[in-house]
Amino acid sequence: MASRRSWVRIPSAPPKYSLYGLAKRQARRVLLGQILLKISQGLVMIHLQWRPMPKITFLGAAGTVTGSKYLVEAEGKRLLVDCGLFEGSKQLRQRNWDRLTVDPATIDWVLLTHAHIDHTGYLPRLMRNGYHGPIYANPATRELCELLLPDSAHLQEEDARFAAKKGHTEHKPPLPLYTVPEAQQVLTQFKEIPSNDPFTISPQFSVKPHDAGHILGATWLELTITENGRQTLVVFSGDLGRYNQPILVDPEAPTVADYLLCESTYGDRDHPVGSVADELANIINTTAKRGGAIVIPAFAVDRTQMLMYYLRELQDKQRIPKLPVYVDSPMAIDVTEMYIRHHNDHDLQKQTSLDPLNAGQVHMTRTVEDSKKINDVTSPCIIISASGMITGGRVLHHLARRLPDSRSSVLLVGYQAEGSGGHALLNGAKYLRLYGEEVPVRAQVYEIGQLSAHAGKCELLEWLGGFKAPPKQTFLVHGEPVALNSLRDAIAAKYRWPVTIPEYLQTIQL
Ligand SMILES: [Zn+2]
Repeated sequence: MASRRSWVRIPSAPPKYSLYGLAKRQARRVLLGQILLKISQGLVMIHLQWRPMPKITFLGAAGTVTGSKYLVEAEGKRLLVDCGLFEGSKQLRQRNWDRLTVDPATIDWVLLTHAHIDHTGYLPRLMRNGYHGPIYANPATRELCELLLPDSAHLQEEDARFAAKKGHTEHKPPLPLYTVPEAQQVLTQFKEIPSNDPFTISPQFSVKPHDAGHILGATWLELTITENGRQTLVVFSGDLGRYNQPILVDPEAPTVADYLLCESTYGDRDHPVGSVADELANIINTTAKRGGAIVIPAFAVDRTQMLMYYLRELQDKQRIPKLPVYVDSPMAIDVTEMYIRHHNDHDLQKQTSLDPLNAGQVHMTRTVEDSKKINDVTSPCIIISASGMITGGRVLHHLARRLPDSRSSVLLVGYQAEGSGGHALLNGAKYLRLYGEEVPVRAQVYEIGQLSAHAGKCELLEWLGGFKAPPKQTFLVHGEPVALNSLRDAIAAKYRWPVTIPEYLQTIQL
């Protein structure tokens, strides 16, 4: 049996350490501490360096106005915001033919801000090269794409056929960028999302669309990116419209963003403040007195409806004679019907209960034969035809017929990108190359800038003023270099925000 004593602890005598031993032990402890500190610092650095972060790559509309394509990546997933065609100069158009730097098969989703071809026109090419995922768009944008994408393909096919006939091409035989069946195939991939309510695409991406007031269905997007539980809010402005315009609603104000991509189409200038109705009446009356025709290159979507609205108003007030108006665009009737269907997307009904888009003596021409017959009209008339930048479409043959006639007028009502026919006319070109021939410019060239579908510089700044706090970084896109620089300086002066002008194909971690 163990005695009680065995449980009693008898303190032993303290060890006799030497001072040298203590110092050595202390030094070892300090060294060990330093090593552990270095290791933990290293681990933190490695963690920070390798921690996955969302990133964005500017695949288009960087340093130029067309080809909008922004690739957003998070947790190994890829979302493409807009999928636009490059338009304008030959150098830019060549990018549509070049292989995309990202394999389209690795993109999971496409999300659209609006239907314009410089935001959607690359979709058939993306699919041809391997994309098979859904294309998210609101109902109006989807319906507009049903008209615009096959039309774009049709123009590509027509151009290729014409190039083959005339022999002015580098491709042998000349090929269209994509065909009508390819464009129709794209339409089967569309999935509708709500016009204004939040929508979850995946655990990584969710979106809240807002009215942009640019064309029917146009939105700016609040994209929430989630990566490893961390959320980043990126606002894509898409294309922003103007304030206080007939038909379209005003752009909705933004409030918050970690990062912002803002369009800069008119970043260097404001639209004139004069009355559209006055200027339009003046041009029409002057040209009619000379006995000429007024050719208005206009996008079939929205600008054509806006013009019809003004023409109807001027005719009703008897400020212009009742001239025949040829709307030479097969899609104009369909688009006008769409405006009536999508009444939540505009404020037309609030203004009038009449048929506001139907001017008197309107001839909607669908067939090529009817379009050609307009060439035989010798009395004063108004011809509205696409494309709006004189880069293709039926307006080319109207211009080939009317440009050499000094009695006639060409009226430009939208943005004219560098390298486009409209840009050349605005800059006083004496000849315009149409169908491979130099056509003399004797007609009068006018511009009504107020009819633009894009916000001017002050309107862009007004929209930016909605933010309650500055975004961490603002990326200016969708503008020519002069406009981009001018808007950057204006934002720096007015709001003192950090602003970056990204380069084509640049990738930035968010
Ligand atoms: Zn647009």
